[in-house]
Amino acid sequence: MQHPCLTCGACCARFRVAFHWSESTLYSPDGMDVRLTEKLDPHRLCMRGTDGPASHCIALAGTVGVDARCTQYAHRPSPCRELLPAWENGEPSPQCDKARAHYGLPPLTPETWR
Ligand code: SF4
Ligand code: SF4
Repeated sequence: MQHPCLTCGACCARFRVAFHWSESTLYSPDGMDVRLTEKLDPHRLCMRGTDGPASHCIALAGTVGVDARCTQYAHRPSPCRELLPAWENGEPSPQCDKARAHYGLPPLTPETWR
């Protein structure tokens, strides 16, 4: 089974992705490239493209629901790591459901992972 996130990407084009600046290359070379971020306040950055109603992360390539993928996967910040696809670990994920619904994609179910 192909992992559903490998084509989906809906959550990367729905929510603001905000995180502490120390998760960026301002602090560590392994962090998110600060050039792909915007400053939100003295402590937080957000991914470029995600701070508005038509949110779409600058690091997302491809088409949502078809072939979307994160071009910065190894460097993605904590909000991206923490938003889990629904039922992958036996738990619901309202944000995953909400993002998918926005793009007309059906919610993941426990059966998705069997
Ligand atoms: S909306 Fe859900 S399935 Fe889609 S990429 Fe995000 S976590 Fe994965
Ligand atoms: S950094 Fe990658 S995983 Fe995070 S919102 Fe952007 S495209 Fe999605």
